[in-house]
Amino acid sequence: MNVYDSQRMADVLAPLGYGATDSAETADMIILNTCHIREKAAEKLYSELGRYKNVQDQRRARGSDTLIAVAGCVAQAEGAEIMRRVPYVDIVLGPQTYHRLPEMVAQVTRARDVKSNGVNCRGQGVLDIDFPAEPKFDFLPDVRVEGPSAFLSVQEGCDKFCTFCVVPYTRGAEYSRNVADVLAEARHMVERGVREITLLGQNVNAYHGRRNSGSGRPAGLGELIRELADVDGLDRIRYTTSHPVDMDAKLIQAHRDVSELVPFLHLPVQSGSDNILHRMNRRHTRDDYLRVIEKLVTARPGLKLSSDFIVGFPGESDTDFEATLALVSEVGFIQAFSFIYSPRPGTPGASLADRVPEDVQSDRLTTLQALLNDNQQAFNQSCVGEVMPVLLDRHGRKPGQLAGRSPYMQAVHVMGPETLLGEIAQLRIIEALPNSLSAILASPDAGGRSMQETRRVAV
Ligand code: SAH
Ligand code: SF4
Repeated sequence: MNVYDSQRMADVLAPLGYGATDSAETADMIILNTCHIREKAAEKLYSELGRYKNVQDQRRARGSDTLIAVAGCVAQAEGAEIMRRVPYVDIVLGPQTYHRLPEMVAQVTRARDVKSNGVNCRGQGVLDIDFPAEPKFDFLPDVRVEGPSAFLSVQEGCDKFCTFCVVPYTRGAEYSRNVADVLAEARHMVERGVREITLLGQNVNAYHGRRNSGSGRPAGLGELIRELADVDGLDRIRYTTSHPVDMDAKLIQAHRDVSELVPFLHLPVQSGSDNILHRMNRRHTRDDYLRVIEKLVTARPGLKLSSDFIVGFPGESDTDFEATLALVSEVGFIQAFSFIYSPRPGTPGASLADRVPEDVQSDRLTTLQALLNDNQQAFNQSCVGEVMPVLLDRHGRKPGQLAGRSPYMQAVHVMGPETLLGEIAQLRIIEALPNSLSAILASPDAGGRSMQETRRVAV
């Protein structure tokens, strides 16, 4: 979501003459787009800011200037504190106000002009961390498309209030864009060469978009996906991140019927213990989760899963943790993200007793990651010899090499002609490396086993 937001900020600033640069030293503006989900991510902000202050000073000494902005969820959560602690920051804006960036830049630039006339402007930075009534999507310019794969935000915010999570506080209440707007944006992308769209939302399957800007029954994510699949030229659809309780029947049926929907789903479970799931306010049990997976795999044989896990949540006993390991073994996730619980200020979890000692948390993370890694490597190995459709979206590291993603989000590289860039190519996997798969072009008449087809027949 932050990658998407950064791209949108660049889109908003393009009409003002700003373009992206890799070099902070020559930048007229530096925007730090921040994440507040865990303490470690949030902590980075202040050390990074110190670095960019030096850039600002040096550029000023040479008669130019660098505006410094802090965006994203740390800005949302700690905006006033940032303004107070770091006076050289010019703009602080939350994730819901970046459509107003041009106004903010103008405001700061005006203050700068006054400053050059000798007026002291300290403290004239702009702070905008509203949750505006107007949805930002109505004010954002057309998405600038780069490459064959794009993010499309359909939903934002969250009303679930898991006890560990800051998202409902930093991103605000659940909001869904209407179906017509999503379809228009998808068509715009496809006309510019996009073949794969990843639908984004903090809780994307809570999507309930209006069919038009008027009244009427809202469409769920399953219905939206069906309509998107009818967009000519759109070959692949993904969505992330989903919550298990919002996997409704229509969405599961979309996995059965919509061939554009990849046979891979990120479905975070966080823990395999009912006790911990309850303390986390996840609103489902371990069995509920397993039942959802069963329905998904029945609907789409061969569907694979990835997940998120938190270890060391307050009250997590050895038995609770073992339940998580057992769930991992049972499901066989092919990828996963796992984290030590990070108490976030203002969330209910932060005031729970029964904190798990840090050394126990670290040990559990190591054990869990070893198991997850084994599963991932085993799956990658099982792909050797298979033929898969891979969207080749970039050059590889070696000359003549192209790289892309398999339906299961594995990185794949292949030696192939430039004409395949931007295409979905049938590739035969020949080797599983620790972080990627190596492939060769599968000739269309070679009669190679297609991974998706093989699994469908098998079931
Ligand atoms: N909406 C998604 C998750 C969004 S946050 C869901 O409901 O599952 C992304 C991931 O960050 C979470 O799945 C969780 O594993 C992790 N995370 C969130 N808050 C955390 C915290 N306080 N400590 C550690 N990990 C956290
Ligand atoms: Fe956070 Fe996801 Fe829970 Fe919402 S559903 S509170 S985003 S973890």
